[in-house]
Amino acid sequence: MLKRPVGDSPMIGMKLGSLPRARLACLPTPIQELPNLSKKLGGPRIWVKRDDLTGLAFGGNKARKLEYLMGDAVAKKADVIVTGAGFHSNWCTQTAAAAKKLGLDIVLVKNGPKDGWEPAEWDGNHLLHELMGAEIKVVRPEKFKDALDAEMEAQRKAGRTPYFIPVGGSVPLGAAGYVNAMLETFNQSSDLGVDFDYLVHGTGSGGTQAGLVMGARALNTGTKVIGAAVGWTSKEEQQAGVNKIIKDSHDVLGLDVEIPLSDIVVYNEYVGGGYGFISEEKVEAVKLLAETEGIFIDPVYTATAMACLIDLCRKRKFKKRDNVLFLHTGGAVALFPYRAPLRAYSEGKPFPWTVPDWSPQST
Ligand SMILES: *Cc1c(COP(=O)(O)O)cnc(C)c1O
Repeated sequence: MLKRPVGDSPMIGMKLGSLPRARLACLPTPIQELPNLSKKLGGPRIWVKRDDLTGLAFGGNKARKLEYLMGDAVAKKADVIVTGAGFHSNWCTQTAAAAKKLGLDIVLVKNGPKDGWEPAEWDGNHLLHELMGAEIKVVRPEKFKDALDAEMEAQRKAGRTPYFIPVGGSVPLGAAGYVNAMLETFNQSSDLGVDFDYLVHGTGSGGTQAGLVMGARALNTGTKVIGAAVGWTSKEEQQAGVNKIIKDSHDVLGLDVEIPLSDIVVYNEYVGGGYGFISEEKVEAVKLLAETEGIFIDPVYTATAMACLIDLCRKRKFKKRDNVLFLHTGGAVALFPYRAPLRAYSEGKPFPWTVPDWSPQST
């Protein structure tokens, strides 16, 4: 039985339904119980929300954000999308797929170890970017912002209508996708007759967490949203980033609810050496979920979140009867470029490398 009826939740006042939306994701995504993993960890009851099955490209959380972002781009008659992120970015994959599906061009500015860097082999997300025919520019992170500005300017000069989306789509329209995901989860939890006490996910650019936190407050679900930071930031920094998106969302979403800073829970202990660096904890998480449930997570985001969940279980943060929902945000195609350290770990050997060669920190 549900403890917390929605009642006259502030959700009712939201503009979510009136925002332009491109239908890109296969929704709702399933929620499944993970009994073998729960058993292995000695409780609590662990569930997974399969946002790796959103169906755009190879799935993932960005599909939900892109529904509203691309809805806006189409409403504004854009003909080319300009965005950027890391070299093996899931965000770039899903944005390129969304653009192609909607008949738009796509320019990707990607961070790399040096300007114009080319990998020895096309693999993982980069392979997908190339296959979709995205225009790709690789620059050092110091030049990233200028490169994006220059690209927007060049597109305008060429008489086109470019639409810019910042890294990860973590602006209010992107977060809207995760307010919607929380609403979807709430409806599913009602059907299942389960209250989710916690939701654990990987937090990077913060739009996912912002949306989840707003949704949980607005619906009064009582679900505590835990974000495991995937980059090297302080908890305060990450919290402030998520809080800014929430504040900026106020007018865009018309959400009439105060969100205390204490709702934005961040753990930053599971990053390892840094963003995209491999670590024993991350590989252990990948292996554990694969071996117990046959589900694949990625070495960058979801493995960090799963390492957090595993550690919190071991530290008895959750009660045995708690229901903990793991949000699978996708990205498993990144397993392939990490094949060497994954193999080494499986064979009980030391990692051949921990910093990938496509990382700006590799030089
Ligand atoms: C982008 C991404 C995240 C983080 O989402 P943010 O909204 O950027 O915080 C988590 N998991 C995967 C697989 C991602 O690609």
